[in-house]
Amino acid sequence: MAEDNLKVSNHFIRTRIKEDLAKASFTVTTRFPPEPNGYLHVGHAKSICLNFGIAEEFDGRCNLRFDDTNPEKENDEFVEAIKRDVSWLGYEWNELLFASDYFEQLYAYAEQLIQEGHAYVCDLDAEQIRAYRGTLTEPGQDSPYRERSAKENLDLFRRMRDGEFKEGEHVLRAKIDMASPNINMRDPTIYRIKHAHHHRTGDKWHIYPMYDYAHCVSDAIEGISHSLCTLEFEDHRPLYDWYLDTLRTPAHPQQIEFARLSLDFTITSKRKLHQLVEEGHVDGWDDPRMPTISGLRRRGYSAAAIRDFCERIGITKKDAQIDVGVLENCLREDLDFNTPRVMCVLNPLKVVIENYPEGESEQLEASNHPKRPELGKRSVPFSREIYIEREDFMEDAPKKFFRLTLGREVRLRYAYYVTCTEAIKDDQGQVTELRCRYDPETRGGKSPDGRKVKGTIHWVSADHALPVQINLYDRLFHESNPAAKENFIECLNPDSLQILHNAVAEPSLQSAKTATGYQFERTGYFVRDISDSDDGKPVFNRTVTLRDTWAKLNK
Ligand code: ATP
Ligand code: MG
Repeated sequence: MAEDNLKVSNHFIRTRIKEDLAKASFTVTTRFPPEPNGYLHVGHAKSICLNFGIAEEFDGRCNLRFDDTNPEKENDEFVEAIKRDVSWLGYEWNELLFASDYFEQLYAYAEQLIQEGHAYVCDLDAEQIRAYRGTLTEPGQDSPYRERSAKENLDLFRRMRDGEFKEGEHVLRAKIDMASPNINMRDPTIYRIKHAHHHRTGDKWHIYPMYDYAHCVSDAIEGISHSLCTLEFEDHRPLYDWYLDTLRTPAHPQQIEFARLSLDFTITSKRKLHQLVEEGHVDGWDDPRMPTISGLRRRGYSAAAIRDFCERIGITKKDAQIDVGVLENCLREDLDFNTPRVMCVLNPLKVVIENYPEGESEQLEASNHPKRPELGKRSVPFSREIYIEREDFMEDAPKKFFRLTLGREVRLRYAYYVTCTEAIKDDQGQVTELRCRYDPETRGGKSPDGRKVKGTIHWVSADHALPVQINLYDRLFHESNPAAKENFIECLNPDSLQILHNAVAEPSLQSAKTATGYQFERTGYFVRDISDSDDGKPVFNRTVTLRDTWAKLNK
């Protein structure tokens, strides 16, 4: 990791900002500009960590600005979800802003463009505009409306604003260069007519600004020093600069592009995430299998693990697919250090300890973390009947099977050494119960005579068991690059959720909170879900397995 850290601490955006600060004194000001048309996903986390992280690092400011210029798809539910997610990730915005706050200013600047001969109202329809635009190899053609007078343009533009025309009848375009090698510069649209209800401005506006125009002007109004965006906007930078130069805005932010995050086995497109939710392939935006921030949170991811991941993958100019194992390992590292250990049996098999006094029980001391004594200890009840994991017993066990089998001694974690004496079966030959004997001298799992056992298994006292539901989550897609497939829905992993209804946990989990993760000894990291099961039991989501089982499969 050392090499990576080196790369991270020197990434090109940091370097650029340091150079700028050496040349002039200013407050580093960034913004995170989501469109409130869906929930944030892990790709957005990269942008959040970068923008807020840079501001923190250089004692600057970062605004949360909603880019709300497409009224049909945007709403307040998304605004609230985005605010929640940014806060949860651990960041505080300097100001909470909306591009729609600037509609008046954006409009006034557009009139300025018209008056100075830099914009015109065009009556071509969408298809004609496309045909006139030319191609990568051929220049475009001037619109027949390009030479309208400023007076006529202003009149038409004001009537567009007042709602006199139908959608598509006119657009306002910048007058730049129809022969530019950069297609974005071939008289791009600045405003289009939309008779749509806006989540904040209601029915006031009949025209809405295009992203390329609204974005740079909003940045300039806020005095953003560095406008960090993803690589697909690189070709839009000349237009970003053209608008600000032409308008002579008081500030002229620098746009700097970086590579988007794409993760294998994961979708990071809001449109496709919408489809998963709308078609019911998942149980909402915060389904624990979703790569949304809210899904990851419900799954048991910590904000620290996500931030650590974003720092480790670094910032580059080159698109690359990141192994989702990198994210999972950041998570494992965090959870390994921070989560208390508890015992839960996922697939229970009953064990009767024949020589343990009937009707009695005792409290055994269990440590909450093997490497962190400061996390303390707890009591775990033990009694004559316990549950163990079904897969921890094997009747005809090979030599290397160090768990429970007839006649071989194993340690029950924190409790005693036990030896299995009998396996009771049903008519089909399925083992239904085990009989064991324990050695009372081995209390706490230590033998007085130095006798060694190879295996240690977890257990739960049957009398004290807390019935729980376990949701075992796995990757949502079985294909490493679902986004590249024609139909990504076909790549859904049919086994991405397995529900266990009979699991039992030690009683301490009764008070488990939804935000606290646990390591269930030997079976993985889990977190309590936000809702209980239909029959009223606490539900625990598997956050991640203890080890990377997919890496092994792919070898
Ligand atoms: P999507 O394609 O999923 O709709 P978007 O870019 O349209 O994403 P926005 O809400 O406009 O979504 O994104 C807000 C900010 O987050 C933008 O600055 C965008 O560049 C950044 N962002 C979005 N996706 C990623 C990603 N995968 N990696 C890094 N940054 C991203
Ligand atoms: Mg966008």
